Amino acid sequence: EPNVGRMPQWIRQSLSHHENYSQTARNVHSNTLHTVCEEARCPNRGECWSQGTATFMLLGDTCTRACGFCAVKTGRPGWFDDQEPERIATAVRDMGLEYVVLTSVNRDDMTDGGATIYAETVKALRRDKPTIGVELLTPDFHRCQAQSIEIMNAALREAVHPSSELQMVWGHNVETVPSLYKQVRKGSSYERSLEMLRLAALQPGVEAKSAIMLGLGESREEVLQVLRDLREVGVSRIAIGQYLRPSRYHLAVKRYLSPAEFDDYGKQARALGFGWVKAGPMVRSSYHAEEQQN
Ligand code: SF4
Ligand code: SF4
Repeated sequence: EPNVGRMPQWIRQSLSHHENYSQTARNVHSNTLHTVCEEARCPNRGECWSQGTATFMLLGDTCTRACGFCAVKTGRPGWFDDQEPERIATAVRDMGLEYVVLTSVNRDDMTDGGATIYAETVKALRRDKPTIGVELLTPDFHRCQAQSIEIMNAALREAVHPSSELQMVWGHNVETVPSLYKQVRKGSSYERSLEMLRLAALQPGVEAKSAIMLGLGESREEVLQVLRDLREVGVSRIAIGQYLRPSRYHLAVKRYLSPAEFDDYGKQARALGFGWVKAGPMVRSSYHAEEQQN
């Protein structure tokens, strides 16, 4: 658990602010689903869940990669559940959600990287409620990027009505600056992530989104360069938050940035042309995702 004693006050306050999220917890657990809120020990659980918003984690709770910042367990799951899309749709109906974020572990063990499960889930959600907001936060689909994009796009063409104003958000997180990838995101590549985002942004009716965590030792210039790179490949939404160590076995926090520093990055991002910007110590990629603009 985080060493709360050494955290600055603005973070301690947020962490101690517990609200009742038992109803949402029951809905999630009764359908044997996984949420990233729990698996990644997200500090915003109280706030998001009490508002009935949750980020569902598809494709199980075991990831084939082992990022140094992440609390999700690592392994080779070797199986998946083809009933998962329908179980998610049921939970979303029971919870009466208007906006759903779908994400997953990396499944480098699957030939399509898990794209079919994403696609089927999107279709099931829109079948049940054509106006539902759906946001994807996908892996980079290493080794099968082209094939996975094709599977996703077929589903999006079906789920995003061409004449509707309804956008879908397709996110993929760069998480950190390229110089820290080796240490922070072993097995991933900054270029591959940018390529994933470029392909997502090309889809009609799709807004591309990314997120970065600060406090791992990156410089200000490196962060600004990432923001410019993201704009260049067509990303229009950005979330910038503080890295918090999920346990003492994970990478240590190098620095806690002040709320003012986050405000400044937020300003820089808006100046670069991002249309949706969240920047602050407790910001996570799915935090207040349902808000349409700044
Ligand atoms: Fe869940 Fe995202 Fe909210 Fe964290 S910010 S609790 S992951 S919905
Ligand atoms: Fe965690 Fe990295 Fe796996 Fe994503 S890819 S679930 S951040 S270990």
